[in-house]
Amino acid sequence: MTTKRTYLDYNASVPLMSAAREAMVSALDVVANASSVHMDGRNNRGLVEKARSNVAKLVGADPANVVFTSGATEAAQLALSPLLQDKNSPVTLSNLYVSAIEHPCISNGGRFSDNDIETFPVTGQGIVDLALLKEMLANRNTKSPFLLALMLANNETGIIQPVQEVFAMVKNAGGYLLVDAVQAAGRIAIDMHELSADFLILSSHKLGGPQGAGALVCGRGNLKPSPIILGGSQENKLRAGTENVAAIAGFGVSAQIAVEQLEHMRKIAYIRNDFELKLSALSKNLDGRFGSLKIFGKDVDRIANTSCFAIRGINAETALISLDLDGISVSTGSACSSGRIEASQVLNAMGVDEEEARGAIRVSMGWDTTPEDTKRFLEAFASYLRRLA
Ligand code: PLP
Repeated sequence: MTTKRTYLDYNASVPLMSAAREAMVSALDVVANASSVHMDGRNNRGLVEKARSNVAKLVGADPANVVFTSGATEAAQLALSPLLQDKNSPVTLSNLYVSAIEHPCISNGGRFSDNDIETFPVTGQGIVDLALLKEMLANRNTKSPFLLALMLANNETGIIQPVQEVFAMVKNAGGYLLVDAVQAAGRIAIDMHELSADFLILSSHKLGGPQGAGALVCGRGNLKPSPIILGGSQENKLRAGTENVAAIAGFGVSAQIAVEQLEHMRKIAYIRNDFELKLSALSKNLDGRFGSLKIFGKDVDRIANTSCFAIRGINAETALISLDLDGISVSTGSACSSGRIEASQVLNAMGVDEEEARGAIRVSMGWDTTPEDTKRFLEAFASYLRRLA
């Protein structure tokens, strides 16, 4: 019996890369506070600034506009502020628009009051409904500026959103754009200026860096949300408190590797597509015992590492337990909602009915996934289906 587990849950968290671990361990040995002016402090400051430059490069931003946080959730809460400083003047935002498939760290609305949050829909293909969004923005009953949040790639389905088109609408209507690039970073090339994002959020552990580090990237130096954590003047006065230098150093290394490995990550699509072909063949051999296979987002742009599928009549929760016992880690929908029995909000927003959504399994791959890993998944899944029959 093999004890090696097969990890196919990279959208939940990417295992810590050894280079990131090494950077963290050596950062732990650098004494001092990164704000101290002596040499030890300056050494620590150097690690933070190197990481800032690597994170900025990952998204084509100016390092001066990168604000380190404890993760993408905190970065989102910081950006979801109805009060901004733009070109040194205060701006009050009237409301927040969020897509129906946002991660809960965005859809909770941060510091916007519940009455000021509006959700815009996605089509059955899982892409923002551009016509409806246009109409929604045209029918606003105020001319005040607003914030609109849209993810670049969805964590459950991997579907890529037309952020640039949405940006044009947002600007026409006098709004600001917040892009959740957590799942897209390191999987597709990101240029913050091409996307014209005003704010963008990132998470270290989705790149192979440590958990508990992330960043808010502002599109311009003179554009800032109002801070949540007040105190010292760290992080350009946007996030007070002594920096977690080791975590930031690990995040920086993972961001650097993510840039170098972009081409490799695109090639993961070969493994994913081959996996889906075999999954499809497997589902056709079920002699009609279950419904047909549906792969969400198969016909639209997706990040290369994600396969989210359902076979009607299969309960994903029990499939997950069976796969887990066979040494395979995958997810049903969003990992942040694991332990919850409700069907996925994302699939619900795409119009997938509850029964089908309850059968949805997400397989997400990473830089070291091999065809052997997906083969093990398919064998274990086939044996689960045989036991059900
Ligand atoms: N945004 C997306 C799309 C995510 O998938 C996640 C985590 O699952 C987050 C934000 C939150 O990131 P963090 O774990 O760094 O708070």
